[in-house]
Amino acid sequence: MTAYDPENIFAKILRGEIPSARVYEDEHTLAFMDIMPRADGHLLVIPKTPCRNVLDASPEQLAAVMQTVQKLGKAVLKAFSADGVTLQQFNEAAGGQEVFHLHFHILPRHEGDKLRPPGIMAERDVIEAHAAQIREAVATL
Ligand code: 5GP
Repeated sequence: MTAYDPENIFAKILRGEIPSARVYEDEHTLAFMDIMPRADGHLLVIPKTPCRNVLDASPEQLAAVMQTVQKLGKAVLKAFSADGVTLQQFNEAAGGQEVFHLHFHILPRHEGDKLRPPGIMAERDVIEAHAAQIREAVATL
């Protein structure tokens, strides 16, 4: 497998070199809003240590990320009064991956809704408002 590239965009977000709307972090993981949300509240969970995807992640990285995925899944359910949560995770370009730092997508879902098409940038203030809703929900889980 190709080596981890420390210049990928999520590595830059982790180092604070580019901005992101952070909603949660602990010692091992970070959660922040996707800038092209396919549903209101679409966020990403990543490990703080380097790995490309599930295929080269350690058991410890996977365990840490999944615990945060569960926590944020519950948080978005509450924050958006959602009926369900979709998780997405892609591995390597052929598997649909575009950013090569392990990440899980968390998408709050409502009965009968459809995901928006990929690649549409959201307004910054909308993302910030959704991030605030999620932070509040995490704090009251
Ligand atoms: P994937 O690798 O899972 O196919 O997709 C990467 C995801 O990262 C996409 O949903 C895309 O919208 C998101 N993304 C790409 N660049 C940035 C960025 O600079 N900031 C944030 N917050 N999300 C990004």
